[in-house]
Amino acid sequence: MKFKLLIVLSALFNTLYSQNLDCVKALQKISLDSLTSKLQVLVGKKNINIDGADKKITSRYAYHADNVFAEKYLFEECKNLGYEVFKNTFSDNGGNIIAYKTGNKSPKEVYMICAHYDCVGSSRNPFQGADDNASGCAAVIEAARVLKNYQFPFTIAFAFWDEEELGLLGSAAFAPMGPYEWFIQGVINLDMIAYDSNNDSLVNIHVFPTNSSIQLGQTVKNCNSWYGIGLNPVIINPGTQDSDNFSFSRRNVTAMAITEDYGPDFNPHWHKLSDSLENCNIDYFFKTTKLAISSICHLAANNESVGIKNNSLIKQSSFDLLFVGKNLIIKGLDSKKLIKIKIYNLMGQLLQETYIENEIIPLNFEVNNEIYLLFLESDNLNYTFKFKLAN
Ligand SMILES: [Zn+2]
Repeated sequence: MKFKLLIVLSALFNTLYSQNLDCVKALQKISLDSLTSKLQVLVGKKNINIDGADKKITSRYAYHADNVFAEKYLFEECKNLGYEVFKNTFSDNGGNIIAYKTGNKSPKEVYMICAHYDCVGSSRNPFQGADDNASGCAAVIEAARVLKNYQFPFTIAFAFWDEEELGLLGSAAFAPMGPYEWFIQGVINLDMIAYDSNNDSLVNIHVFPTNSSIQLGQTVKNCNSWYGIGLNPVIINPGTQDSDNFSFSRRNVTAMAITEDYGPDFNPHWHKLSDSLENCNIDYFFKTTKLAISSICHLAANNESVGIKNNSLIKQSSFDLLFVGKNLIIKGLDSKKLIKIKIYNLMGQLLQETYIENEIIPLNFEVNNEIYLLFLESDNLNYTFKFKLAN
């Protein structure tokens, strides 16, 4: 009996100790009405005011005219909540929307919650794309709404990607750089979070065996118990490469995705006209939204407990970059190709410029706990990386 009480008390203590009070308060502000109303707007079931006129977003397909309405809606929503917002135009047709609040202790270190706002379809045949991925976007806006009055030590960012369905184009364009001063510590991507036909509350946490992705996924899983969300999280490693988190993971930025069951209970309406509001499980969606918001809040509030370190190893398809002590080690490149490296600090000062002759390149500037930009250039290759050397 005493023993049981001890277990209960220690479980309770663990939960209370791990909870962040601001996040507990923010979670209480999540409203089903607010969430579903955003979902209705994004699937064209509710009018919104765009440039002074009453509009419906009948489709978010990248080449449908209404895709721009969705983009404007997301921009205005975040602006009205008091965030800094910018549009990241990456092609003639593509535009990501990014909102953020700068952290008061580590402003350069950024935690991001994101979702793609485009959907499949065609210009003539508008799809709702309710689960894929109006659900993820509605949850990101709700996150921005309930977190707007909190100041975090780390910068918190809310991103909406365009043209995911055309091959992760929006996130792939943003991932290498982002704003000049940003160093992304963790990315939580939401893609399809409103379908659960068998009510088993299963949610998939997609991670990769690179960088701190596994720790990030574990933190999200822990948030489910710390904040009493009531879902059944299952980690998949390696997870899906078919969503925007992969644009970050493949560049060795710590990232993960929250999705509904990608296994036996996979949404049969996926990429079909029938991916509509009626086929969403709203109770489940409310919970996945809570999981996402508790996780991003927890990360932005106390990174220390997560222990994420970025970019000590940068893996590319053709080569690996590795920082060991005061050396940059580059493996797998054909050294006869005349490749130049340039390293800058965030003030824009060129610290080192050299042609790669050996696998090991000694860094000849004073390395500290700063963020650096690395450019690799040759006739047929052009890469940019941000990196930070763990001290
Ligand atoms: Zn999707």
